[in-house]
Amino acid sequence: MNTARQLLTILILGVLFAGCLSPDNTPPDDDPEPAVDPLDLLESALADGHDHSEVALHPEVASGFEEVTRLSLDGDGAQRVPILEMDATPGLAFVATQRPHPGFIVLDTSSPRDPEQIGRYSAGTPYVADVKTTPDGRWVFVATQPETLFATVFGKPGAPTPTPGEPAPYAGDVGIHIVDTSDPTAPSFAGLYAGDATGYHMLTLTEISGATYVMGTTLFAGHVDILRFETTPTPHLVPVSTFHPAVHDAALTAESAGRSYIPEAHDMTVAPDPLEGFPLLSVAHGSFGLFFLDLSDPSAPRYLGGWNDGPGGPYGIMFAHTVRVVEVEGTRVAFVASEALSHDRQAPAWVVDVTEFNAPKLLHTWTLPGEHPITEHYLYSTHNIEIVDGRVYMAHYHAGLLVLDISTRERAAAPVLEAFIVPGGVETVPFFAIDYSPMVFDVFPVGDVFYVTDVTGGLRVVARTEAVG
Ligand SMILES: [Zn+2]
Repeated sequence: MNTARQLLTILILGVLFAGCLSPDNTPPDDDPEPAVDPLDLLESALADGHDHSEVALHPEVASGFEEVTRLSLDGDGAQRVPILEMDATPGLAFVATQRPHPGFIVLDTSSPRDPEQIGRYSAGTPYVADVKTTPDGRWVFVATQPETLFATVFGKPGAPTPTPGEPAPYAGDVGIHIVDTSDPTAPSFAGLYAGDATGYHMLTLTEISGATYVMGTTLFAGHVDILRFETTPTPHLVPVSTFHPAVHDAALTAESAGRSYIPEAHDMTVAPDPLEGFPLLSVAHGSFGLFFLDLSDPSAPRYLGGWNDGPGGPYGIMFAHTVRVVEVEGTRVAFVASEALSHDRQAPAWVVDVTEFNAPKLLHTWTLPGEHPITEHYLYSTHNIEIVDGRVYMAHYHAGLLVLDISTRERAAAPVLEAFIVPGGVETVPFFAIDYSPMVFDVFPVGDVFYVTDVTGGLRVVARTEAVG
């Protein structure tokens, strides 16, 4: 039996017993098939040594999920395009796209299980990692950086970067694009915040005292810019304050700098503090770790504390890529995903008790079950997360989408793998030199389903298939 056939057989058995993640969960007496341990099922999809660019070797493997539909998104009306992160508001979703057509795609999600591409926005030629929308879908902000900064990260020796014939990057389009989406079928450029010369990597957005604020991380410059959005006389962003860890926590920064080499302001989230309700800005700052700020006065963020001691990180040190903070049984818990970049070990995630921001306690270090070396760029790495009802929905590159239960203190200290889906491989649209599928980057709840961006394979719409246990 060849490998693909073996995987298919395991897949079929897995579908029969989808969701049985408890090892003592036995099939009904009248069922003649033996039970399959879902962890074996997952392992079958992650088996090392296969040709990751051969999509036939990647059938769908799932437990507690099913793929509802897949959408190949096109960048110019005729050509598939790699996709990165996304945002959504009721009825609309916005998906960041990469070269050859950097910008974003607009989806009509009025039927969440059957989204339809209705519009596109071209950002010119930069690297576009993130988009964020106002809650009413009226404005979209696009984080852009010089693409040349990434060609060396994602390219392989000998790979043609940039692709011959494509326009060369130009300087004027790097920064934060303000896009008018009042007509979502025809998004239009409304303004540019140039800001830092290295551009902006990730954005987050919130309303404070009736004003809309946009926060942007300057990946390579290491700071977070806090900007107020104003629409008169023309749409623009006003600098309000800047957070740089060195200003707020010299000791933590010095300690980090002594043992790290990636001081990136990577990603951040702003949301009401789960215990006290103030606008909490949580920054995932690469090797510097986590920083927490009270944004009640956006012009003077109040530093609350930080954490930078993540064991088992992808470089032997921590690299905080994404963070979310939730309440767990009256305590404040941060879930932190790292990112492996091009390295030889898979990336962990950390669960940290931050009930006292200035006295964080590591509760757990999580890694993908099994040993899976990273033999391709990023292959097995945690990435973006969403937390819904105490469950962490985690994008994990070639390992797909995994769900961890951290709904109680006990489970936060020992997260339970509750469900997963490794979407089936499909013909890829390469992202720089990366051509394996799936390559899962982001997950977002939309209606009763989840939208999953597979960078090289398109948008996957997946649904939970049974009640959580
Ligand atoms: Zn593979």
